[in-house]
Amino acid sequence: MINLRNSSLLQTHAFIDGDWCHADTYKTFVVKNPATGEVVAQVADLGVDETRRAITAAAHAQILWAQKTAKERSQLLRAWFDLVMLHQEDLAQILTLEQGKPIAEARGEIAYGASYIEWFSEEAKRIYGDVIAPPSVDQRILVIKQPIGVVAAITPWNFPCAMLARKMAPALAAGCTIVAKPAAETPLSALALVFLAQQAGIPAGVINVVTGIDSAVIGAELTGNPLVRKLSFTGSTAVGKQLIQQCAADVKRITLELGGNAPFVVFDDADLDAAVAGAMASKFRNAGQTCVCANRFYIHRSVYSQFSEKLIVSMKALTVGNGVDSNVNLGPLISMKAVNKVQKLVDDAVEKGAHIAYQTLLNEAETAQGCFYPPTVLLNVAPDSALTRNEIFGPVAGLIPFDTDQQVIAFANNSEFGLAAYCYTRDAKRIKHLSDVLETGMLGINTGIISNEMAPFGGIKQSGWGREGSYYGIEDYVSVKYLCERF
Ligand code: NAP
Repeated sequence: MINLRNSSLLQTHAFIDGDWCHADTYKTFVVKNPATGEVVAQVADLGVDETRRAITAAAHAQILWAQKTAKERSQLLRAWFDLVMLHQEDLAQILTLEQGKPIAEARGEIAYGASYIEWFSEEAKRIYGDVIAPPSVDQRILVIKQPIGVVAAITPWNFPCAMLARKMAPALAAGCTIVAKPAAETPLSALALVFLAQQAGIPAGVINVVTGIDSAVIGAELTGNPLVRKLSFTGSTAVGKQLIQQCAADVKRITLELGGNAPFVVFDDADLDAAVAGAMASKFRNAGQTCVCANRFYIHRSVYSQFSEKLIVSMKALTVGNGVDSNVNLGPLISMKAVNKVQKLVDDAVEKGAHIAYQTLLNEAETAQGCFYPPTVLLNVAPDSALTRNEIFGPVAGLIPFDTDQQVIAFANNSEFGLAAYCYTRDAKRIKHLSDVLETGMLGINTGIISNEMAPFGGIKQSGWGREGSYYGIEDYVSVKYLCERF
């Protein structure tokens, strides 16, 4: 089923205080391969008591972890990064097995996740304070930055390695400890990553992973336990809103990376080949299951036909199937529920006047047992259809023509989300204007790929609070303390 060079990476127990442990009840839950429907593992199904123990372990470990020098924490993170890259292939195999993405993309995700560990191993040494001019000469004002404390991290299934690495690395760099809850669909990548953290020498209790099927129960403990000082959540806006309410009781700090609804705008002066390449990368990566996926395509009417024809030509190169097959470049969706949701959005768009200009024919023998949806292009989508208002989270591109800059800016901003946006144009003045007025946390200008460890990832509006990656990323894990000295 899976042939790993290091079979110890396939862990199915939770990780608390340096121990790999089963649930108190011995209960397990099933992890399935979305490409085949096969059961790939039975993983420990934890509840409140084990979660509470993990939080207590993290609180104890935090005292000594914060007392390590920045350089010591940096070196441990660096050792972890080296191990992740050494085991990149095994980690990618595990990722594809439980999540479905093509193996080349899985290798890319491991390297992407590792890049955050490397980046924050370097940033760990650069958490600076301030000396500020005081109001009187016998005073001195100092600002120091201190770790927040225990961090709860809740992560989704679409990037099961990278989303966790992006939280754990800055938290550890700042001197915080972590209790992580990965999505029940994809716990194996998280456990493998943390196995390597243990091998790297990160002390017991500094990282804990609680696995379980009842995320509401585990989440209630993570948000309700006063020992947890911060929640970092990546997932849907609906769950994010609920977690904000739960964190209000003891005023926990919160970072939220939530849903998106990225507009992808192609102007009449765009390099159309570059725009199509960007659209392919942005729309079809991870079968359209990324929060920064192009979700609404606005194409200037004068290049609408040309763009759609070129897009369809490029889409003919997509091979749908099981991600372990190296020819496959588009894998399954995470579940049949996801497939049904995408179908409903497409049906609604067609009812409202859109037509399907292209849809890949699925190979029945390859895809019958899995959760597949064919790459699809819809033309003349109504600007207010459900397809444009919801995160599609599938390989469907709906194209809408526009006539003026003013009109397309209004279309683009007409969303409660503000995570990513993309525009293709050669006009510098227009780029400056779009940069000023588009309501988004991130803007790709003549590119469909924007995410890397050096840049601040995050959204505005209902797409979240805070930033991950870059030097901004550490700020979410430190508290500022001001010292007023009198001489
Ligand atoms: P989700 O349903 O919100 O789940 C995300 C995580 O929250 C999972 O670990 C889930 O656990 C857990 N969870 C669900 N209900 C919970 C509750 N009541 N209390 C505590 N935890 C709870 O989202 P998803 O469908 O997995 O992920 C897709 C969403 O994530 C999309 O909206 C996407 O845009 C967003 N996303 C955002 C970013 C970003 O950086 N902005 C990145 C990636 C994904 P279980 O799965 O075990 O129930």
